[in-house]
Amino acid sequence: MIEFKDVSKTYPNGTKGLQHVNLTIDQGEFVAIIGLSGAGKSTLIRTINRMIDITDGQLIVDGTDVMTLKGNALRKFRRHIGMIFQSFNLVSRSSVINNVLTSNVPDMPWYKVLFGSYSKDQKMKALEALDKVNILDKAYNRCDELSGGQMQRVALARTLNQNPSIILADEPVASLDPIMADVVMSDFSRINKEMNITILLNIHHVDLALKYATRVIGIRAGKVVYDGPTDKVTQEVLDAVYNGKPVPTTDNDPDKKVEK
Ligand code: ADP
Repeated sequence: MIEFKDVSKTYPNGTKGLQHVNLTIDQGEFVAIIGLSGAGKSTLIRTINRMIDITDGQLIVDGTDVMTLKGNALRKFRRHIGMIFQSFNLVSRSSVINNVLTSNVPDMPWYKVLFGSYSKDQKMKALEALDKVNILDKAYNRCDELSGGQMQRVALARTLNQNPSIILADEPVASLDPIMADVVMSDFSRINKEMNITILLNIHHVDLALKYATRVIGIRAGKVVYDGPTDKVTQEVLDAVYNGKPVPTTDNDPDKKVEK
């Protein structure tokens, strides 16, 4: 479970990235974060694994107050949180399987890393991860031979190889064409359902957010203006998130969960 309790983030230059955010995200949810560029989506995602430190409030992940973590404890905590970026962050001249295997590196002695000596079990596990995202047939290709969508699947396999309970994805489909973006979103959806991994991603394509996520969080100027199930996202909600129109009221509907 991820809990934001009155969380704010003010950058050193005074910019308010997040303002008084309160959220509870249960294990196994698939959450899409939507909002204009600069709204605070990336800040929200990156606070969870401490890529960005919050400046006020409390952020609790699986019972741990993340701001108390340091050194080894922080590294161990991060191992359970996968991170996917828009730019894939793969070693393009290396093979697909070697890229997946690199997620073992933090747990290996340096000399094994130096010689790339991965065990048979590690290799089998990496191949399984590639199979889960339907790209096993490319295991021995070089990454620079793949399409953008295939590269994002490899990045997803690398993340799965570290047994995450949470995957954070910062604009994972922003650089893909519409068809590949849909395919990668369906991979996220399948992984979420089959493996009960919590997925939090930010995305510009509202249609894909509504098609695949089960919950949508809309943010505007660092504040949550909508938080509720995907099927309750109306045009009014989108106007509040993107155009700054008044936030729709709850109309006494307890399921709507709209913040005022
Ligand atoms: P989004 O992901 O929705 O585009 P961000 O979370 O990247 O938004 O940014 C939220 C706000 O914080 C923006 O005003 C942005 O300019 C600002 N911001 C982001 N990173 C920094 C930083 N390192 N220093 C100062 N301001 C930042």
